[in-house]
Amino acid sequence: MSRSYFEEGALVGVLTPEPIDRVLDYRAPEGGCWLGAFVEVPLGPRKVLGVVWGEGKGDFDPAKVRVVTRVLDAAPMREEMREFLVRAGAYTLTPLSQMLRLATRVPGLSDPPSMRKVYRLGQGEADRMTSARARVVETLVEYGGLGFTLSELSSHAGVSTSVIKGLAAQGVVEEVDTPRDAPYLPLDPDRPGKALTGDQAAAAEALRKGIRAGVYGTTLLKGVTGSGKTEVYLEAVAECIRKGRQALVLLPEIALTAEFLTRVEARFGTKPAEWHSGVTMTERRRAWRMLGQGEAQLVVGARSALFLPFRDLGLVVVDEEHDSSYKQEEGALYNARDMAVLRASLNDAQVVLASATPSLETWANAQAGKYARLDLTARFGTAVLPQMAAIDMRLEDLPSQSWLSPTLTSEVAARVQAGEQALLFLNRRGYAPVTLCRACGAQVGCDHCDARMVEHRFQKRLVCHQCGETKPLPETCPVCGAEGKMAAVGPGVERVAEEAAAVFPDARIAVLSSDLFGSARALKAQIEEIASGDTDIIVGTQLVAKGHNFPRLTLVGVVDADLGLQGGDLRAAERTFQLMRQVSGRAGRAEKPGVALLQTFQPEHPVIRAILDGDEESFWRAEAAEREAAGMPPYGRLAGIIISANDAASAFDLGTHLARNDGPIRDAGAVVYGPAPAPIARVRGRHRVRMLVKAPKGVALQAAIGRWIGGLKLPAQVRLSVDIDPQSFY
Ligand code: ADP
Ligand code: ZN
Repeated sequence: MSRSYFEEGALVGVLTPEPIDRVLDYRAPEGGCWLGAFVEVPLGPRKVLGVVWGEGKGDFDPAKVRVVTRVLDAAPMREEMREFLVRAGAYTLTPLSQMLRLATRVPGLSDPPSMRKVYRLGQGEADRMTSARARVVETLVEYGGLGFTLSELSSHAGVSTSVIKGLAAQGVVEEVDTPRDAPYLPLDPDRPGKALTGDQAAAAEALRKGIRAGVYGTTLLKGVTGSGKTEVYLEAVAECIRKGRQALVLLPEIALTAEFLTRVEARFGTKPAEWHSGVTMTERRRAWRMLGQGEAQLVVGARSALFLPFRDLGLVVVDEEHDSSYKQEEGALYNARDMAVLRASLNDAQVVLASATPSLETWANAQAGKYARLDLTARFGTAVLPQMAAIDMRLEDLPSQSWLSPTLTSEVAARVQAGEQALLFLNRRGYAPVTLCRACGAQVGCDHCDARMVEHRFQKRLVCHQCGETKPLPETCPVCGAEGKMAAVGPGVERVAEEAAAVFPDARIAVLSSDLFGSARALKAQIEEIASGDTDIIVGTQLVAKGHNFPRLTLVGVVDADLGLQGGDLRAAERTFQLMRQVSGRAGRAEKPGVALLQTFQPEHPVIRAILDGDEESFWRAEAAEREAAGMPPYGRLAGIIISANDAASAFDLGTHLARNDGPIRDAGAVVYGPAPAPIARVRGRHRVRMLVKAPKGVALQAAIGRWIGGLKLPAQVRLSVDIDPQSFY
């Protein structure tokens, strides 16, 4: 058995988030330390954060072993969490130090215990009572025992702070030091929820049973948009809270959290903790600490919330589990959906994967019996699924530079006239994807990337979607110098909005695209405005496909249903199917039925037909059969190898070297493809080369890759990253 407490002077191994891939030996400080303790240790001339990872190895000159500087004021990292970091790091081939960084991304971790003064009613008598003093006392009595900060109390009572200080001097008001991070108010799982329908109640009961069993299990909760998946999994959250355990709900998009928090508050009486990039530093610190102390029961967050220090995690819900934003595409390349399953399995926790259009991986896991599956087949109440139809663009008469067919515009006109809303969907940000010179044909590209610049007319600039670089629209061609010949080619949402404004001059039009909002708050305000009905036509990117509720929306027009099918990506069909079903699901969520119309040049394409038929199971079966025949995920395994360097030759040289020395990969029964220039061969000035490793399902892929690249000495300037289960092939 390993030790869990180390006396002063004992050798301990400390893992730090610094890029040294080793656990370093230190001596336990005065007072000793616990296994898992967050500590500060000297490293060279610096002091760095670390976690006590185990006993010291003793392989270092005992005279030189330094002493842990101090133990930080935070609950020690639990064993399951350490195990999770080790296993997730091994799976994604990410160094443990980098995994630890994910688990320590919280402000103020090394701050001393932070206290603040609060004011309560004391025992003393005032020498005289003024009306201001009386208001202070009344406020404190009214809030019975609750402590206020000085500024809260002065604003509540409407008095200056000196009045309060005066009362404190006489003991009428008591000044107490309390920890700065307040526990979250308890959620009440026994407040009555909505009355569930028969299907919903059965699904909720199945999930509750899993929670009560207190063991690991994963369930796919599949249900059309609006079928009440959220209502159902909130019942699992309730059961988890009843059991005294903690729950995590992951959402793919922070813009969705506001609506969700409101629903949590309605169900449980108060708001849960939040964890995502839009949360203030103070709240982040509070959430992190309170989860560690078991004083937060539920947290709603983005994928990084998986690395929070839960004291007793009992449930993880991954809402819209198919969403590609769960894959972290920079730094540690992990898929939060898969890591949620790993974490839950180490915590005897349940996972609920909710989606109307699950990923093929999850669908296949349910087929194979690895995951349980629950289906909600009907929309709640009178709402019915939208009717779907194609608009055959080959038969439509469209002037050049326009993208809305006469059939679609007349349908939109009918909705606007009836006081309903229409959504025009195009999954492309900006005004136009290409800007070219009509004299010489040159296209404006990014100076740092092999990518075309995209015109954003609201910003009045060209933007590179790879690196974010912007420049003004050139008036003369940068290649041939012709003046006034630069032209926008093709549509983005902004251009569709412009066309809609020309066709419907009296309609109120709103554009929803992730780049148009400076903050989550601004986006939330816009979404609320649309939901309340102040908009006739919404023009949006996939931002609108994700779960927002627009009750008056009855028509969805997909401007270019063929867009995602180009490019031949492994998941092109799956993604198009999901996105089209998802965005169509926005229509008709209230009493009025909805219609979804897909503009397409290939209405007989099997994917388009599957979308229109709505026979999901046969789509999944066909797609699964194709992947299986090709040995592709989820029936085979892939890993991407991305090499980048300041010059193309260095990147290729390394790739060629790896390809020639692929013994460990071949021995494992896997194959290496490449090196080949990445589809975007240059990003931020760095040249990129890709390789792909493909293996049959049972192969220990990570181990083989580890043997292959493990001992590699990278030339200066050359970087290599491994992407296990890649989602993106750029
Ligand atoms: P999903 O998560 O599957 O898209 P939701 O849980 O958001 O579905 O439900 C869609 C809408 O229907 C929401 O406004 C929800 O409050 C409502 N709803 C679902 N089930 C019920 C129910 N049993 N009683 C009352 N309202 C319900
Ligand atoms: Zn660029």
